[in-house]
Amino acid sequence: MKYINKKLTIEKINLQKIANKFGTPFYSYSYSKMKENINSFKRNFKSISPLICFAVKSNTNINIIREIKKFGLGADVVSLGELMMALKAGINPNKIVFSGVGKKSNEISFAIDKKILLINAESLSEIKEINRLAKIKSRKIRIGVRLNPNTDAKTLSQISTGKKENKFGVNKDTFYEIINYCKNSKNIDLKCLSVHIGSQILDNRPYEKMLKIVSQILKKTNHKFEFIDLGGGMGISYSDKNKKLNYKKYNSAILKFLRKHKVKIIFEPGRSIIGNTGTLVTKVIYIKDSGRKKFIILDAAMNDLMRPALYGAFHKTLAVTKSEKKSKKPYEFVGPICESTDKFITLKKFQELKEKDLIAICDVGAYGMSLSSNYNLRLKPIELLIKGSKIKVIRKRQKYKDLI
Ligand SMILES: *Cc1c(COP(=O)(O)O)cnc(C)c1O
Repeated sequence: MKYINKKLTIEKINLQKIANKFGTPFYSYSYSKMKENINSFKRNFKSISPLICFAVKSNTNINIIREIKKFGLGADVVSLGELMMALKAGINPNKIVFSGVGKKSNEISFAIDKKILLINAESLSEIKEINRLAKIKSRKIRIGVRLNPNTDAKTLSQISTGKKENKFGVNKDTFYEIINYCKNSKNIDLKCLSVHIGSQILDNRPYEKMLKIVSQILKKTNHKFEFIDLGGGMGISYSDKNKKLNYKKYNSAILKFLRKHKVKIIFEPGRSIIGNTGTLVTKVIYIKDSGRKKFIILDAAMNDLMRPALYGAFHKTLAVTKSEKKSKKPYEFVGPICESTDKFITLKKFQELKEKDLIAICDVGAYGMSLSSNYNLRLKPIELLIKGSKIKVIRKRQKYKDLI
């Protein structure tokens, strides 16, 4: 996205034009950005030739998943719904891994029937359930076990998953216990050790520490793992200050790891593939002066984009039409929802706004629409895929008849 003649433009179309045609709020995604992200990911990790499984929970739009599939990616899913969506988008079951701490019998059963690559289990109880179902179906099922490496990912506490106080994975001792259990089971084929320590990780050191711990565990057991699934979590740049994760450094750490362990690497990136491709465009409904600051009341709210309300996430916020005139008071950008956390950002300096102006909230391609809801019985926004000067509606705006 960039300003061309003071108009914010995505690929070859200015956002004002899109708003005139489709109304607000809307999500738009840049196809060329997505392509660039996938190619950069592939290029940087080429030397380890990983299987890249897109984390579907970051963006569940079937048209987005279809586009990603065309680049040869697989899918990481965390529910039956996501598994069905990935299959419907045409992803090869042999490239699908199924993660999550609480898979129910019907979800496991479906995954077994579809012959997906791996069910990544997160507890001994879950493995016993997979074993029970596999036995009934007279099958031998490939599984992974998610290790909790007790590693601080140095990210927002709400999106950290690899510390011992987090619910994810199993600790070292349980991990060894599980290896023994699987050895004695005719219906379980333990193929993979998986880890995923959190999201929006910008520092390589947590990953390096994680690799060290995985390496130690592999050395202590004589079980032969075919895959090591390193999860996702690669951080992107949300502000001009933070830099994205250095892929090259991560790649060298993995290369070093692979010299000791002959395994196939799996990645499960979500945010790093789709995060910076998306923009939420919203219109100023009212401006309310509260003395010290002005509330900019938008037609998008926390039901459309929950990240700021849920974990205080920062999203760059821009005016769709640029002007040089500065506001005199700080602006607080809020939505119409009846919650005080329904607020996107407060900015001390912004250009002066008036009612009906358009605002672009940036880098919302991941965990934007996929976390949206109908709270306050608000309609979910339309989603558009932008390819050069072409606009494709990839999800229609919800209608009241869908809701009521
Ligand atoms: C959420 C999740 C991912 C994706 O994380 P990103 O930060 O979006 O890359 C990958 N693997 C698992 C198990 C997850 O829960």
